[in-house]
Amino acid sequence: MHYSGSVYRPPSEAYSLIVQVTLGCSHNKCAFCNMYKDKPFSICPIDQVMEDLSWARNAYPRIERVFLADGDALILPTEHLLRILHYIREHYPECQRVAVYASPKSVLKKTPEELRTLHEAGLGIAYLGLETGNEALLKKINKGVTVAQQVEAGQKLKAAGITLSVTAINGLSGTVGWEDHAVDTAKALNAMCPDFIALLTLRIYTGTPMAQWVEEGSLSVPSPMELIRESKLLLEHLDCPGAVFRSNHASNYLVLAGTLNRDRERLIRECGEALRGEAPIRTFVELGR
Ligand code: SF4
Repeated sequence: MHYSGSVYRPPSEAYSLIVQVTLGCSHNKCAFCNMYKDKPFSICPIDQVMEDLSWARNAYPRIERVFLADGDALILPTEHLLRILHYIREHYPECQRVAVYASPKSVLKKTPEELRTLHEAGLGIAYLGLETGNEALLKKINKGVTVAQQVEAGQKLKAAGITLSVTAINGLSGTVGWEDHAVDTAKALNAMCPDFIALLTLRIYTGTPMAQWVEEGSLSVPSPMELIRESKLLLEHLDCPGAVFRSNHASNYLVLAGTLNRDRERLIRECGEALRGEAPIRTFVELGR
């Protein structure tokens, strides 16, 4: 297999065959992110990708899931993606799902018909990083798209039948503006009604603009209790029937898991118990900070 630089995948793709179809992220400018700083963005030659798929078929007897890395597989021309998906369908008959990270810009460049065709060829799930539904904060972190574009991309993926998993970042606004971040993020999620919502917690990575903001004092990282207070406010405004809500990433202080809207009141109650000190939260040591 051709692997280049650091390779990332969502936690739920832990057992997937990872195939790099692009290197890096086509945007690579978000203020909090250090994922692909080690490599400039490029599209992997399609013949190399097909070679990797063929090699993996010979190497592994069962491949039930495939994750097409790196940061933005949907930027590939549709005919390249279809060639990859058709190969997987033909040569990996046991494969149940093909997944990608999807950048909103790449989703919006595809027509609804193209997305539908990709889904019918086996593209099962797309992971979209909303980060925040607050317009000013989205601009500040340099996400490169508007909230409306993020929402439209999510809706377009869902309309094509592709399972939609959306991440947002608890604490992204620091200790100032957290109410707007929580409420607006809930609104954007409600508009998309994803199948999965993953609430991560802000981590500050050395060398990023955000680390610089913390160093110069223009951003204060929220305390664990402030983060839980923000999660509670987000949950109070969420209205996404059927969405699986998870806040159980290694970065989260309070583990929350349930299906909306059915479990929303329980999740809000669990936040309240943690805020009152009636339920344990993870510590810095457990989180490895
Ligand atoms: S789009 Fe995603 S991978 Fe690219 S810089 Fe932003 S957060 Fe990082």
